[in-house]
Amino acid sequence: MKLHEYQAKNLYAKYNIPIPKGRIATSASEARRLCEELGGKVVVKAQVLVSGRGKAGGVRLVKTPEEAEEVTTSILSMKIKDLPVRKVLVDEAISISKEIYLGITNDRAAQKPVLIACGAGGVDIEEVAQKTPGKIAKMEVDSLLGLRDYQIRDIELSIDLPRQFWRPFGEIIYALWKVYTDCDATMAEINPLVITADNHLVALDAKIVLDENALFRHPDLADLRDIDGEDWAETQGRKFGVSFVKMEGDIGCMVNGAGLAMATMDIISHFGGKPANFLDIGGGASSEKVASAIRLILADRNVKAILINVFGGITRCDEVAEGIVRACRDVASDVPMVVRLVGTNEDKARQILSGASLVYADSLVEGAKKAIDMVRKEDK
Ligand code: GDP
Ligand code: MN
Repeated sequence: MKLHEYQAKNLYAKYNIPIPKGRIATSASEARRLCEELGGKVVVKAQVLVSGRGKAGGVRLVKTPEEAEEVTTSILSMKIKDLPVRKVLVDEAISISKEIYLGITNDRAAQKPVLIACGAGGVDIEEVAQKTPGKIAKMEVDSLLGLRDYQIRDIELSIDLPRQFWRPFGEIIYALWKVYTDCDATMAEINPLVITADNHLVALDAKIVLDENALFRHPDLADLRDIDGEDWAETQGRKFGVSFVKMEGDIGCMVNGAGLAMATMDIISHFGGKPANFLDIGGGASSEKVASAIRLILADRNVKAILINVFGGITRCDEVAEGIVRACRDVASDVPMVVRLVGTNEDKARQILSGASLVYADSLVEGAKKAIDMVRKEDK
């Protein structure tokens, strides 16, 4: 889950990372007033959960309250990468003498967090990473040992940080590491971290991504969720208690258990099909949950066939069958379904489904092949 810049900055501030003075506004007149309060020179920043706001015109430096009002009106009417702007952050303007990139993220290959820094930070960091990757310093961090002083010094040396900033920069890195581990983040970033004209370090931007699976440990952070930036079906899925991840293909999948769901997608791909989603209804799912899951799959216009693969154990096949019947009754749909339903109460399930127009499969391979055939027929 991503936090907005202003939320991330508030969080960073609690860890003593210096941030500019600033407040959030939802209207142009409010922004004007904040601008007056902050002394006239401010930056108005669109709060949307995407990167590259600066390049999209969503970050504007202004010099007067009138200008702040004008610019805020225009930013609040913008869409950035399809997302509406509902709030702006009005921050005191800072004179920049140097922009630094600083971030921590999980390196899955190394199976460790990695600290990343670059002396050429700012809006072009992606280009720097592509064209001159040598300018970017990386340091793996051992989760058990934590960040060590020598690692911070190595990073400072690698980005040629002037010596006078070593101590405050080190404190910021350490604070960012604390935020990252305390909040169960998968990414915590400051870009740019600037050296100001009067030689202070300030975090001008803040970005943090939290691990969804650890959010239950952080109810205060979970409350900050903004569903604007999320896929509709994924949000719904969370509400019903199913794990749903949207994919690009056309075969909708409904499966119990994450492992079986992954295997189902693999088999579909293996035979040349493309899964439209990952969906795990979990163990012991009720018919209601099953019906909601099918409705979610059917809401995706790309779906041309559905493969239901359920291995009954704690999950009872008759409950699943009831759910299928329910969903078919609620949603008028001509999307064909293949059902592979084996295990607990399998016979009862067949009885419940006897009137439904679906195709049975005895094995996963057969089910996948049938679903792929259905899509091919649709395409003709
Ligand atoms: P992003 O484009 O979404 O990453 O938004 P940022 O918050 O990083 O802002 C983009 C750029 O605007 C920064 O890299 C800075 O160069 C510039 N910027 C942001 N705040 C200020 C400020 O207070 N003063 C000045 N001069 N530039 C700023
Ligand atoms: Mn930025």
